[in-house]
Amino acid sequence: MINVHSYESMGTFDGPGLRLVVFLQGCNFRCLYCANPDTITSQGGTPTPPEEILRMAVSQRPFFGKKGGITFSGGEPTFQAKALRPLFQMLKEENIHRCLDTNGGIWNEDVEELLKLTDLVLLDIKQVNPKRHKQLTERSNEQTLQTAAWLEANSRPFWIRYVLVPGYSDFEEDIRTLGETLGHYQMIERVELLPYHTLGVHKYEAMERPYLLKKVKENTPEQIEKAAHLLRAYFKQVVVN
Ligand code: SF4
Repeated sequence: MINVHSYESMGTFDGPGLRLVVFLQGCNFRCLYCANPDTITSQGGTPTPPEEILRMAVSQRPFFGKKGGITFSGGEPTFQAKALRPLFQMLKEENIHRCLDTNGGIWNEDVEELLKLTDLVLLDIKQVNPKRHKQLTERSNEQTLQTAAWLEANSRPFWIRYVLVPGYSDFEEDIRTLGETLGHYQMIERVELLPYHTLGVHKYEAMERPYLLKKVKENTPEQIEKAAHLLRAYFKQVVVN
């Protein structure tokens, strides 16, 4: 069974083309700005047979066109890598394009096999600076960077997603370090720069949990342009999403 939080049909935000996005329950990170805090706990969600997700994907295939497909997001989908492996195999046999939106922080044999069955990885890099990463997510970024290196070494195409959080991940030196560390990777097809937003704050209120970034303001257009400009010095395709 796969523990599903929710679905989005015709999603345009998580990978190329129109996609069925499956948000899974459970995450190993604790990002201060998480827009889906209700997906973090592994409790809750709906246990779903893989065949049901396959059936949904097949029935929505006419909308996917040439570029679209299915994306697994979360939460952190690799949390359920073992259960996802046979589903990815079935989706592959149906020729449905598979994206995995992951923080890259979990590694085991199931994750490795899952990545081999993935057409495009959306790798969320929260911060390249280890100390600030820990401050932002309560976890280390070591495995995330190793996952990026594995994707490169194993010729698996990926996008980097980077959320620009003022005062946490918008330091010029860190953005330059990101470029210096990963800018030479051939398998990175694009970098998506994601402005910080507060759309998930009401969920914290509903969960009676404090939102610790209350004082952080959304980015100004100048901050976004500056970060995009810095990234363009290292990566060939940088888009603001
Ligand atoms: S990795 Fe994603 S789902 Fe997990 S806490 Fe961070 S933002 Fe939330």
